[in-house]
Amino acid sequence: MTKLTAYRGHILSARADGEWDDWPDGLVSVDAAGTICAAGPWKLRRETGRVVDLRPHVILPGFVDTHAHIPQMPACGAHGESLLRWLRTWIYPLEAAFRGERARAGAEAFFREMLAEGITTAALYASAWPDGVDACFAAAKKAGVRALIGPPLMDVESYRDDLRRARRRTERVLSEAAVLCRTWHQPRGRLRFAFTPRFALSCTPELMAGAAELAARYDAPVQTHLAENREETRLVEKRFGSRYLEVYRRCGLVRPGAIFAHAIWLDDGEWRALGDAGASVAHCPSSNLFLRSGTMRWRAGARVGLGSDVGAGPSLSPFDVMRASIATGACTDPAALLRAATREGAAALGFPGGCLEAGQPADFVVLDRGIVVPPGGPDLENTRDLISRIVHRCNRAAVSATYVDGELRAGATGPVAGRTRSCLRATRTWASR
Ligand SMILES: [Zn+2]
Repeated sequence: MTKLTAYRGHILSARADGEWDDWPDGLVSVDAAGTICAAGPWKLRRETGRVVDLRPHVILPGFVDTHAHIPQMPACGAHGESLLRWLRTWIYPLEAAFRGERARAGAEAFFREMLAEGITTAALYASAWPDGVDACFAAAKKAGVRALIGPPLMDVESYRDDLRRARRRTERVLSEAAVLCRTWHQPRGRLRFAFTPRFALSCTPELMAGAAELAARYDAPVQTHLAENREETRLVEKRFGSRYLEVYRRCGLVRPGAIFAHAIWLDDGEWRALGDAGASVAHCPSSNLFLRSGTMRWRAGARVGLGSDVGAGPSLSPFDVMRASIATGACTDPAALLRAATREGAAALGFPGGCLEAGQPADFVVLDRGIVVPPGGPDLENTRDLISRIVHRCNRAAVSATYVDGELRAGATGPVAGRTRSCLRATRTWASR
């Protein structure tokens, strides 16, 4: 008989039909492989097994960060300048040093931080050094997260001194990426390789077209930046003689599963073109606020996930990202943001999860109800108000525990986590009652 563990608490999860599952006394039942085999109201439970009683806390799908840079974490919160100056002055030197022991330690710290913020799945950029990429994958494997990772491909103004002097630079960058993909890419596993042209200004058309070809050959996703900053967008149009998205389209990068970060300076037709291609937008409002890049207009057409864009985003916190979207007016609907931070984000990256449903991996977070609901707040309230409180009131301290594939991967510190841990210890067996 399969060993099951049931997590009992207030279950909240975005459904495919646009509604929410909201069970104040609910359960998520997880099998030994870490897959959800049932979710629903507690009183309708059928299975027997171990119970982890997390009441009155909220059990939510793990957060999905659709865009962040592992080597840039040390830059978070400092040097708020405009994009191109920020990259050249602060970021390229940081990434150029991201290799060897520094990359190992930096990547491990990044994934600890990610799990502590309640993020179970992410699309990430490593450094352009192959050993920096290896360090990121090794750390992601050790942390047990779900991640899509790639080196930012650059054959124009690369910070790699060996490439600046190299002939056949483009071929070398592509062949290194192909080797990394063969080493790490598991199309149905937790870790996937992403072909990652950094942005149009750091790539020749040959590099972008080559990356698109390799992505098709290896059944791997592509990710890049698109129309983040006005100056950048104008320079792209000047260099390539067409609109930014058209540059990518001609190179074959606008393809199913592609993830485009920012998408600020686009028109309605370009949003529809992204959606028609099966591509998604990584909306990064806290980063856009920090670098004063502009406000994305969330339009119909493409799927939208949320991205912290660390280190332009000041933190990995999905709550900070959601609130930045509201503050900038990009999206003012908490439910749309929470959906983008979970279900839509997972779909954008092509990963399972993002919802608490049978057949999905048991990727979830436990949010401390004492932080979600203020003192004197109601014991029960409608779904819209609960979502609003989560988006507007929560922070890292609210994330009491983070699970991936049914494994406890992080628990926060402090009295809240202490209570959660004691809940975790207080397990019972239905069969024995
Ligand atoms: Zn970025």
